[in-house]
Amino acid sequence: MNSAANLSSHQETDKKLVFTVKERCRVCYTCVRECPAKAIRITGGQAEVVTSRCIACGNCIKVCSQNAKVFYKEIDQVKRLIETSPNVIALLAPSFPAEFYDFEDHKVLVGIIKSFGFSHVTEVSFGADLVARYYKEQLNLDMPAISSDCPAIVAYIERYEPELTNRLAKVVSPMVAMARVVRKEYGEGVKIVFIGPCLAKKAESDEIDAALTFREVREMIENARINISKIVPSEFDPPLGGRGAIFPLSHGLLHTMEVNEDILSENVLVAGGRANFQDALREFSQGNLDGHHLHLLCCEGCILGPGMSPYPNTSPTSMRFAKKARIIGYANRKMSELDKSQWQENLDKYSKLDFSRSFQSRDLRSVRPPAEQIKDMLYKMGKYSQQDHLNCGACGYDSCEEHAIAIINDLAETEMCLPYSIEKLHKYIRELNISNEKLAHVQEALRHSEKLAGMGQLSAGIAHELNNPLGVITVYSNILREELPADSPMLQDIDLIVEQADRCRKIVGGLLNFARKNQLNLSEADVVKLARHSIDSVIIPDEVTLRLNAQITDPLANLDYDQMTQVFTNLLKNAVEAMTGKGEITFDLFDSADQFTISISDNGSGIQAENMDKLFTPFFTTKGLGKGTGLGLPIIYGIVKMHKGDVIVKSNVDPLSGPTGTTFTITIPRNRLV
Ligand code: ADP
Ligand code: MG
Repeated sequence: MNSAANLSSHQETDKKLVFTVKERCRVCYTCVRECPAKAIRITGGQAEVVTSRCIACGNCIKVCSQNAKVFYKEIDQVKRLIETSPNVIALLAPSFPAEFYDFEDHKVLVGIIKSFGFSHVTEVSFGADLVARYYKEQLNLDMPAISSDCPAIVAYIERYEPELTNRLAKVVSPMVAMARVVRKEYGEGVKIVFIGPCLAKKAESDEIDAALTFREVREMIENARINISKIVPSEFDPPLGGRGAIFPLSHGLLHTMEVNEDILSENVLVAGGRANFQDALREFSQGNLDGHHLHLLCCEGCILGPGMSPYPNTSPTSMRFAKKARIIGYANRKMSELDKSQWQENLDKYSKLDFSRSFQSRDLRSVRPPAEQIKDMLYKMGKYSQQDHLNCGACGYDSCEEHAIAIINDLAETEMCLPYSIEKLHKYIRELNISNEKLAHVQEALRHSEKLAGMGQLSAGIAHELNNPLGVITVYSNILREELPADSPMLQDIDLIVEQADRCRKIVGGLLNFARKNQLNLSEADVVKLARHSIDSVIIPDEVTLRLNAQITDPLANLDYDQMTQVFTNLLKNAVEAMTGKGEITFDLFDSADQFTISISDNGSGIQAENMDKLFTPFFTTKGLGKGTGLGLPIIYGIVKMHKGDVIVKSNVDPLSGPTGTTFTITIPRNRLV
């Protein structure tokens, strides 16, 4: 087969090979960090694989602790191939002893694979033996070369180090070499299924009809409920492999080439694993490797490929020494049993096939955005100076700048930055606290305005009802007054009736004002006089004593005299009504430069705790039918509020915790600010 019909690996790798299971992804950014191709995009707080960038190395699958990354499975395609084609040949990768360590020997495994319907099972290690010869030739060239047996490395170089594409060894991989051998041996029409530890093999070459990972084979064994004791053991089909059995180890290619590792270590540098191979490529492209060749592996040896099942209770990347020991053990056994002359004959026979290949670069490196754009993005991330660049790596990128570039390139989000998210969270908490406080204020104001609105309606109702009877009282008491002789002893009483009726009219008028947007009739008044007048307007029983305690520096205030009188008389009346028999009322008056504090205390029954909330609700009364109206306190509240003042109630009903009684404390500003 010529090289033109060979690999066009980039086309195949556009097959979607790795997926995110969104429900399992906890967005920890480990996959972002571990992806050498930066092919994981975080969008809307979800990780997704960008297929065109993915090199199918399977690193993300290995590192995800939540098993949120899964790979494309081909079990069904393989079953269909077996059903529809007479000769489906398995190419078993030489790393199989590390995977199927629990089978007695390779013959059981070959027997199992054949039981699935494969016509033949061959060893890729023979392909490794063949390509080793070609590698030897490459190493003798003057131009330092990079090994091309790892498909993930090839895909990486084609995309992210395109200038190095022409340095890739123009040799097919052992798998493709073996596919060519098998077609030569068993006929062009056969179908070929690769079985190995590698995910990238699924997209490496169209000369392979399907590729199963060892994990998929395990799954097939489990699903088929195979009884291993009933399996007929079988040997591999020819041509058998030799030294290539050692290929899956990190220095395997060198061993296979039968090159002395010590001597070769001067000529070939081996680098395996994400960080190592990238470093090696960087140094290679900088020309710092003094003409050394590179043997690169994306995993640290194929025995750590993502298609290997983890050993029980271990992570996918652990147990590499146990795996290595199994490969060496198998290779030693194989070499001791090998019919060397037959092997040599086969090598000579198939070496005549063409094992060359070509590569095509496909530059997917992201273009560096202009410095200004990066700076703007860093600003958005709260990174204003170099000190803010923590380069903590929590986002999965090595530096804040790389993260900013990834955001610009639509691969990342600002929220991935941990310090940024913490700062944002703090800001939200602060804003939430402020909103909560504002909300509490608004609720309080709402409660007040509800009360005031309730009072407004109430006032309008009362005013309307009282206006007529008051008019009658005023008219008739004036008529009575005129009819009385000038020296009548009743004249004083009638005067009091006229005066009080007049006050009532004013109050009713005031209430109407209150209903019509709370008007006050402000004038300068003497607060002590107002207190005395209020006391005089209330009938205080003989057994109740009232003490006025006025400690006033300046008695003058700007207030609505009549409405304030109503406040004090209502409070005094409530105090009197709270007493049964003997009692004491204290009327305290204090002033400061800007306000008056008026407290009216009684030693009456006190107010039950459960009633404290309802005191200012219109019509709330605990007094019997026809006695209380429940209007006193709501009106007081409205008047005090209109004066921009406050009402506080303290009460005790429990004699055990002190003397019972209630204190209403009112504060009003000296000059109400309009
Ligand atoms: P009313 O006096 O018509 O009941 P108020 O609005 O003046 O209506 O008072 C509402 C209720 O508040 C009263 O019924 C009473 O239960 C309680 N109250 C008000 N002042 C006092 C006080 N000084 N001592 C005990 N309870 C009081
Ligand atoms: Mg009352």
